Amino acid sequence: MKLLIAEDDLTSRTMLTALAKKWGFDPVGVEDGEAAWEVMQSEQPPRLLLLDWEMPKLNGQALCQRIHQQEKKDPPFIIMLTSRSETQDVVAGLEAGANEYITKPFNNAELQARLQVGKRIVELENRRRLSEEKLSLAASVFEHAREGIIITDLEGSIIDVNDAFTLITEYEREEVIGKNTNLLSSGHHGKTFYRELWDKLGKSGHWYGEIWNRRKSGEVFAEMLTISTVNDEQGLTQNYIALFSDITQQKENEKHLLHLAHYDALTGLPNRVLLSDRLQQAMSQASRNVQPLAICYIDLDGFKAVNDTYGHEVGDKLLVNIAKHMEHAVREGDTIARLGGDEFVVVLTRLNDASSCKPVLTRLLEFIAKPVQINKIELEISASIGVSFYPQTEDIDADQLMRQADQAMYQAKLTGKNKYHIFDHKLDQDIRGQHESLSHIRTAMTNKEFVLFYQPQVNMRTGETTGVEALIRWQHKENGLLPPNVFLPVIEKDPLSIELGEWVIDSALNQLENWYAEGLPLKVSVNISALHLQQDNFSERLAKLLAAHPSINPNDLQLEVLETSTLEDIEKTSSMMRACSELGVDFALDDFGTGYSSLTYLKRLPATHLKIDKSFVIGMLNDSDDLSILKGVLGLASAFNREPIAEGVESEEHGNVLLQLGCEIAQGFTIAKPMPAADIPTWIDGWQPYESWTKQNMAVENSQK
Ligand code: C2E
Ligand code: MG
Ligand code: MG
Repeated sequence: MKLLIAEDDLTSRTMLTALAKKWGFDPVGVEDGEAAWEVMQSEQPPRLLLLDWEMPKLNGQALCQRIHQQEKKDPPFIIMLTSRSETQDVVAGLEAGANEYITKPFNNAELQARLQVGKRIVELENRRRLSEEKLSLAASVFEHAREGIIITDLEGSIIDVNDAFTLITEYEREEVIGKNTNLLSSGHHGKTFYRELWDKLGKSGHWYGEIWNRRKSGEVFAEMLTISTVNDEQGLTQNYIALFSDITQQKENEKHLLHLAHYDALTGLPNRVLLSDRLQQAMSQASRNVQPLAICYIDLDGFKAVNDTYGHEVGDKLLVNIAKHMEHAVREGDTIARLGGDEFVVVLTRLNDASSCKPVLTRLLEFIAKPVQINKIELEISASIGVSFYPQTEDIDADQLMRQADQAMYQAKLTGKNKYHIFDHKLDQDIRGQHESLSHIRTAMTNKEFVLFYQPQVNMRTGETTGVEALIRWQHKENGLLPPNVFLPVIEKDPLSIELGEWVIDSALNQLENWYAEGLPLKVSVNISALHLQQDNFSERLAKLLAAHPSINPNDLQLEVLETSTLEDIEKTSSMMRACSELGVDFALDDFGTGYSSLTYLKRLPATHLKIDKSFVIGMLNDSDDLSILKGVLGLASAFNREPIAEGVESEEHGNVLLQLGCEIAQGFTIAKPMPAADIPTWIDGWQPYESWTKQNMAVENSQK
């Protein structure tokens, strides 16, 4: 530390300087008060002074006074060293501003100790000043930051906020001190969001992200938020500091850009990009819910002539008007998109069958053809529509589907405008010629062309065959063995489906009797169509069929009804199911998960089994949504004490995951494909579950011990 020594006597000065050096100071010696004053005016003056009183020019006492009058923010520590020992001198020296007073002759040790005291005080003073500066800097940052700042305790109670906080949230400081930060919560984020936030904050000491909060006025705003923990020296968290800026405007801009990227600027309809997104979604929904969709490619007839005759402005207005008309022609949830020019695409979803879109197509043509007044000109225009359906017997992607519809649209133009044309040859026939197919199916019944195949249902843990499901096939003379989706939809709403359903039950019961006779005590599941189950006399007819097979234990017959079909008339369905249950027959809800069964519905339906739809089982290994639905269904099954059966177990891995999730009963291609009845006994004899399945079996048993 620098030490200024002012002493006119050379010998004393030399001696003092030497001593000071020895004690570890950095002494500067001067012979007079004026010279000392000069030194004190330098940029970094010494903070520790040793002054003689009597000196020529400026004496020590006057120097003291001058230094103190200067009112520096860091005044020096002054020790007077003088031969004046009278009390009034000591008082005068201290009053002039000296901190210490030592009389000559002095004791070396005492001087050293007093210099050390001075040094300590100067150092303490330095430290205090530094922390004060730091604090005031922090306070100024806090005050002037453009980011809102919140300081909270560990419970989230607000300790302090800055001005920017008030500017952004509209809450005054006094209103929020002591309140919890959740006062700003917008309700836009769920519990999981906050749990993850606290989790991350706890683990890493900070969290960074976008969050929606609410201003005092109730307006929701977006903020970019950083939360950090403030720890004490031991590393224990003391406080949280949140820094945030309002990014609502930025978000609005993003939204606007997103809108531009997805919507047609002229009509405000979705553009090609959004259409492609929506179409993909609609396609997966259509295959999952077994409800077809129609894609309609629309091209206006003679639009170019309007443009050429009246100019683009009129043409544009016409397009806007037509877009509005089209919106009125379709149902909510259907998508209308503009591809560009005078081309539009409409996606009609959730159709009961292909023919049910006919009224919408007619309405579209009608609405488009409505006269429009633009600039006092009355315009009337028609459209040609090409239609294609999804799903189709062959796998098809969205692009192919669009091309089919486009092609069909050209057909419509060729056949004379203001018309629609359906692409798919087979479905086209279905719409116009359903009677023909129906009569084919009726003939096939008379000719006994239908057969039942059986697919085993097993317990994957134990390897036991728990039953078989009867699945109908059409042994077609020309086309070979046809799966049910080719012919069942055609007769779905026709009484023929009841006749066929009775045949299925009867055949399955016959088969069961044969297996009994062979010493195979099997159970058989039979699929029942919605129309069949809703017949008033269904339970009586079933009782008759059972009575015709007296050896059969009704408990060995299970009826599978589609979850979706039970929802149509829940009262009727559940009382019918109850009547059948009284006969001893039990029920499974088939394709479970594809309908929208509410919990109350599930409670009211007396089904003992839930068959998880194969789409979720097949998808669960790659699609987390499918896995979640699957887990949800298993949860429901256990909550309502229903046995779950998984369909679509296509691989060893599927079985393993299902077993881990607690589902043991399954059917699927990796176990067995549906087969003729005659093959069943041999299959049962030969079938072995995968080793990994039975190992899980042991693991589960061990864990239960
Ligand atoms: P379902 O009742 O859900 O029957 C299961 C369907 O999944 C069967 O198709 C079966 O072959 C198929 N399947 C089984 N395991 C797997 C697998 O691991 N992967 C895949 N991808 N598929 C698997 P199928 O025989 O074509 O029957 C289709 C649907 O037709 C049945 O679905 C059922 O709803 C209906 N159906 C079949 N037979 C009859 C019947 O006699 N009467 C009525 N009303 N409907 C029937
Ligand atoms: Mg079934
Ligand atoms: Mg099923």
